[in-house]
Amino acid sequence: LQGYVGFANLPNQVHRKSVKKGFHFTVMIVGESGLGKSTLVNTLFGTTLYPNKANAVPSDESPKTVEIQSLSADIEENGVKLRLTVVDTPGFGDFVNNEESWKPILDNIEARFDAYLEQENRVNRRKLVDNRVHACIYFIAPTGHSLKPLDVEFMRRLHTKVNLIPVIAKSDTLTEDEIKEFKQRILDDIAFHKIQIYQAPQYEYDDPETVAENREIMSKIPFAIVGSDKEVELPDGRKVRGRKYPWGVIEVDNQEHNDFVKLRQMLIRTHMEELKEYTNDVLYENYRSEKLVSMGV
Ligand code: GDP
Ligand code: MG
Repeated sequence: LQGYVGFANLPNQVHRKSVKKGFHFTVMIVGESGLGKSTLVNTLFGTTLYPNKANAVPSDESPKTVEIQSLSADIEENGVKLRLTVVDTPGFGDFVNNEESWKPILDNIEARFDAYLEQENRVNRRKLVDNRVHACIYFIAPTGHSLKPLDVEFMRRLHTKVNLIPVIAKSDTLTEDEIKEFKQRILDDIAFHKIQIYQAPQYEYDDPETVAENREIMSKIPFAIVGSDKEVELPDGRKVRGRKYPWGVIEVDNQEHNDFVKLRQMLIRTHMEELKEYTNDVLYENYRSEKLVSMGV
């Protein structure tokens, strides 16, 4: 179980900048119960997460339907430290009336923007703590049909506030063909509802290898993922993270089997800085200016 985090492989310049700023990345995980959110978090970071009070942003008095939990892991690779925070949202979609399941999540994301704005407005702004959500992984149930009204509503409400990264949960329960068709239907639904999911920018000056790698990652969205924090044994005796079926093993870290590796690469290696920049330069900036307008400034 080596080499989870490739962030020490970031291009040197980006890397140095990030190290100096202190690497802190916050990912939110949303989706109905039982879709494998907690399992993915463990699979993704392969390390024990601890409750992080410092990153938690207190939600207001609105009735608690969806819980917001902030967990962190300090990861070190080649001597470089990274603090990863995962904001889990158990309870989403579990209620008889889910009309407002998205509301506590939107409130939490905005409260994090407000906390940042408040720091910017202080006289001493040298040490800004960035607890904003830099990416939101949204779990879609592996129905093979299309998006549910709950999915559409959540994404429509949140897409201007956070980088949305949709994933197909438990993709080991679908065949390859089913996944292919389901992905297309999801993308059609997303386009039809004018939902903006995260799109990585393409730079002309990137080397062809980087361009190809980015294109490859983006082409997999919505990532069809499989999570497992358990090791299973292959016929040849090798132990891998995976899920065992009578007909064989689905390997988490095998790119032929699912898109988990691509999702991890995107978050932790290729697009971490981009996700942070887009959050700051576009999502937060829009929020900030709307807020100033509404206050008549
Ligand atoms: P959560 O409620 O979204 O946090 O879901 P959990 O992570 O607690 O997982 C719910 C159940 O689904 C557990 O029994 C997991 O072992 C199982 N599970 C998690 N990920 C996968 C997956 O990728 N494929 C399959 N088939 N089962 C999974
Ligand atoms: Mg859970």
